[in-house]
Amino acid sequence: MSKHILVIGGGVIGLSAALECRHRGHEVTVLEAGTCGGQASGAAAGMLAPYAEAGEEPDALFRLCQLSLRRTADWVQKVEEESGISVGYRKNGSLQVVFHEADAFLLESKRRWLREAGAEAEVVSGNRLGQMEPGLGQGAVAALWCPEEAHVYSPDYVQALQSACRKAGVRIREQLGRLIWQGHQGDKRVKSPAGEAFEGDEVVLAAGAWSCEWEQSLGMAVPVHPIRGQICAYTGVDAPRHLVFTSQGYLVAKPNGTLVCGASEDVAGFDTRVTERGIRRLESWNKDVWPALQGEQPFHHWAGLRPATQDGFPLIGRLTRHPEVILATGHYRNGILMSPITAEIIADLVDEKSPALPLDSYHPERFAVTSY
Ligand SMILES: Cc1cc2nc3c(=O)[nH]c(=O)nc-3n(C[C@H](O)[C@H](O)[C@H](O)COP(=O)(O)OP(=O)(O)OC[C@H]3O[C@@H](n4cnc5c(N)ncnc54)[C@H](O)[C@@H]3O)c2cc1C
Repeated sequence: MSKHILVIGGGVIGLSAALECRHRGHEVTVLEAGTCGGQASGAAAGMLAPYAEAGEEPDALFRLCQLSLRRTADWVQKVEEESGISVGYRKNGSLQVVFHEADAFLLESKRRWLREAGAEAEVVSGNRLGQMEPGLGQGAVAALWCPEEAHVYSPDYVQALQSACRKAGVRIREQLGRLIWQGHQGDKRVKSPAGEAFEGDEVVLAAGAWSCEWEQSLGMAVPVHPIRGQICAYTGVDAPRHLVFTSQGYLVAKPNGTLVCGASEDVAGFDTRVTERGIRRLESWNKDVWPALQGEQPFHHWAGLRPATQDGFPLIGRLTRHPEVILATGHYRNGILMSPITAEIIADLVDEKSPALPLDSYHPERFAVTSY
């Protein structure tokens, strides 16, 4: 049965969910406060790196990220074909580099569990590491090489998603201001600050760091908060062949010749300005890791707000107290990576099909029973 789906938010999560729902035959309208991709999604470094980003064990977040990586090549191909826009997808592999002998043991234990979880991973050191990445700083001792990891150019990815959506017949409305669901007033509509009302059979909340603004109308905690990421880019320097991660940050070379270096994690409310201190810290760190940056200045710096959650896992699922509302938010550091699998899950929920993996760990109602 075809439904009319209202998607709130035109970042990667909202646009990906909209595209997949449209492919499944639903009528879809995306309602965006500002410009599609104008927030975290357009600011992201675009890394698709579940192994470099993983913590100490293969938890539920790891499984979601890994499954999404496995969906990515097909998803990107579809988005590029439908939009006619290249998203700069490159499967260069990643190196998680350590600078102290003691940390090399940590790489070995991570390699072991990653392999058990089905990932390709190998520890490289000495001449081999030097040959793989000749521009690394002298102090690099060893690295965990994960050849499956990849990246996209986020601004182009958002543009391609938007174009694919429009070509598939998704209606996209921008510059509406932040819409609020009127459910608490017994009204099924969503309203813009100017009073324009929209009605659909189901509503997908994909409002990134601003999703918490729906707490009042949903009558429940939506524990999403903004964590600012400051990031910069250089041009005209020799760039690494792989995605390079260290404990301090990452470097990733883009097909347009820029080298992106990120990123800070600051608590700064909804402030998206960059600070001198934040960018200076990135600059001093990345010159040690990548000496070619000595004497270079970034030509561009920017910041975005990651939608963080209390336990680090996203909020994906249909609400039991308001079954017409589905949440797709809180993707924190890995929303670009998780966009293909999130789109699939949201469309499965709309179609009332079982998703590819259990959703308990991501259920939006897993937190304390806060009532408003
Ligand atoms: C510096 C930085 C680097 C990053 N690097 C990576 C990376 O390498 N790999 C990766 O996977 N992830 C990365 N991320 C994280 C990634 O960017 C986010 O997880 C992802 O973009 C979240 O997407 P989203 O669609 O949920 O949110 P957003 O992109 O923020 O989109 C939400 C949209 O909703 C709109 N909105 C908000 N409230 C309302 C409302 N009430 N009504 C209508 N519209 C509304 C906003 O205007 C916005 O456009 C990075 C983030 C930052 C900041």
